[in-house]
Amino acid sequence: MSGAEGVVLAWGAATHRGARRPLNEDRYLATSSLFLVADGMGGHEAGEVASATAVDLLEGLGLLGAVRRGDVAQVLAVANERVRAIATQPGRGAGTTVSGVVLTERDGVPQWLVVNLGDSRTYLMSRGRLEQVSVDHSEVQEMVDAGMITRSEAMTHPRRHVVTRALGSPEAPRPDLWYVPVESHDRVLVCSDGLTSELADERVALVLRETPDPQDAADRLVAEALAAGGRDNITVVVVDAVALSQGPGGGPPGDDEADEDTRPRAAGVGAGR
Ligand code: MG
Repeated sequence: MSGAEGVVLAWGAATHRGARRPLNEDRYLATSSLFLVADGMGGHEAGEVASATAVDLLEGLGLLGAVRRGDVAQVLAVANERVRAIATQPGRGAGTTVSGVVLTERDGVPQWLVVNLGDSRTYLMSRGRLEQVSVDHSEVQEMVDAGMITRSEAMTHPRRHVVTRALGSPEAPRPDLWYVPVESHDRVLVCSDGLTSELADERVALVLRETPDPQDAADRLVAEALAAGGRDNITVVVVDAVALSQGPGGGPPGDDEADEDTRPRAAGVGAGR
């Protein structure tokens, strides 16, 4: 058994090679509790193998009860070694991003456990506001943080594809892992950069607001990214918390993890007026 009691989810997913790339090196996982996207990198099909390797290993988390940050970190450490071992041309490594959510619970409270490594993204739409909950591990994000460029300039910057963390590196992976309590009518969007490099957050938010069905929303976002140029592989997973019943609660008392691992919910892009 996995996930969290009392949470009813609905979801949809879509992926496309895009208009320019010969292969689709993105992979995704959308099951009862795991909603993840991996964007593979590396020539000669290495990227495809890398993203598939990560997703296949992460699928094993579905066998656990309540998934903890340490469980995900452990799987990602194994995945890092497997991706590193993928044979590639000399001097060309394989790599992959991973982003998304694992539905779990802490002390009887349902949680999105947000996972991120690289520049695929996880967003949360709540009451019509879209907020990016993952932080890109990319050179352009560092430039945005330093005030050197704006977020919209980052979308066209020549170094926008350079990721600063990913699976497949010689160092141990340093994923971001944090909890966000699930609220009724939350909508989670997980996507590869093939979506966010084509569509601004405002456009993505509008489509998500206008398209109630999660599969329709995923299909529409992929179609719009394609129409906007489709310069990269495009993958979109949309997950809705359609019902959230307050269970008996009072699960096992707190674990070894500190409260600062729970991320506050903040206002985001596209506030309804
Ligand atoms: Mg990509």
